[in-house]
Amino acid sequence: MSDWEADSDEGEPCVSPAKPPLSESRSETAGPSRALGTRPVGEDKEGRGDGKRWGSRPASAREPWQSGTLEYRARGSFRGGGRRRVESLPLCFHLDNALVGTLIGRGGTKIKELEESSGCKIQVAKGNYKAEIKIFGGNDKQTKAKMLIDNLVEKYSQNNTGEKCIKDSFKYKDIGSTSYSESQSVVFNSGFNSPKQPINWASLRENKAKYEAMKWADLPPIEKCFYKEEPKIAFMSQEEADKWRKENNNITCDDLKDGEKRHIPNPIHKFEEAFKHYPDIMANIKKVGFQKPTPIQSQAWPIILQGFDLIGIAQTGTGKTLAYLMPGFIHLDSQPVSREKRGGPGMLVLTPTRELALQVEAECLKYSYKGIKSICIYGGGDRKGQISVVTKGVDIVIATPGRLNDLQMNSFINLRSITYL
Ligand code: ADP
Ligand code: MG
Repeated sequence: MSDWEADSDEGEPCVSPAKPPLSESRSETAGPSRALGTRPVGEDKEGRGDGKRWGSRPASAREPWQSGTLEYRARGSFRGGGRRRVESLPLCFHLDNALVGTLIGRGGTKIKELEESSGCKIQVAKGNYKAEIKIFGGNDKQTKAKMLIDNLVEKYSQNNTGEKCIKDSFKYKDIGSTSYSESQSVVFNSGFNSPKQPINWASLRENKAKYEAMKWADLPPIEKCFYKEEPKIAFMSQEEADKWRKENNNITCDDLKDGEKRHIPNPIHKFEEAFKHYPDIMANIKKVGFQKPTPIQSQAWPIILQGFDLIGIAQTGTGKTLAYLMPGFIHLDSQPVSREKRGGPGMLVLTPTRELALQVEAECLKYSYKGIKSICIYGGGDRKGQISVVTKGVDIVIATPGRLNDLQMNSFINLRSITYL
């Protein structure tokens, strides 16, 4: 029996020697040009051989994981220093590129750690969307390495989307090799590659309330109402309120909630009528020298300060930004869980464009309230700098969606602490 046969798995027919999982071609040196002191490739010390094995290649031609005297040959066994170690085929699987960043760590530190803990060589080749991971080593070590990676992915998935992102775990001899049957090639199933279950929309809809409750169950309560209506405002008649709206940019109001229409709070006329109980807010308004609220502020503050959602439509430059920033400052500072203990920002201003994000930031920076910190994050801006500020801790995030999603998906920012949008 030749070495080849000895290495072959479970009596599997050796139709033709499959190419090794390395890209270089075989060196066919067996034959007449045998040099003194060397054995022909494909023969062992005793001169046995079938001439089908892979020859030694110059060190420069080797892949990085082939160190020392080991060389990878057909059937995936290592050979070196007269001592034979039977290694199995590389275990291959795919991971989303986004996950691979987490897996590799800075300068490949995590991969090195994984290699040390498992005794395997791990190779990562990034593609457009997915990266191919190959684990080289004995079966047990491969399994150990795969388990370690699975654990990392599981941890990451739990912290993020809850989705399992590892895919197509399989073990193969070589791309294009036909000598292994399908069933033999799939030797490791991590459980991540189970087919996706269809979503049961009917059940989701039926249990909407239950899931909604579950979603918020572990979050701290939110304090929403910070408005004490002044008697003078409360006693305004409907006609008076409508008259004021007509005279101030012809404001129209509607309650968009299903069911019975709620009373639209009367508009205020002076800053004090909204912020009398918040002296620091009043100090800020004094500092910037504003005389009276703009119409949209007069109508928006009594609504937003009570914690109701509001869609405000008005021309540019009419003071919409301050209309939501001021109640936001109060909201941030008045929650049952203090800002330091919330583990992330409390207010998110999402804007469609970078220009608007920068305008909002400029407006926000005019005011200082109880040490509240803000950051503007947008695509094209200094990502590293943004990450550095966000991870140090901010209260207000002013963002465009792409960069926000990027930082969120990479766990630099925690949006679960947001209570004011
Ligand atoms: P919008 O968001 O509606 O485009 P901004 O909030 O950017 O408008 O406001 C435009 C400018 O008006 C800003 O410089 C802002 O500081 C200022 N501003 C906001 N509220 C008042 C006010 N009540 N009185 C005077 N100026 C104001
Ligand atoms: Mg504007």
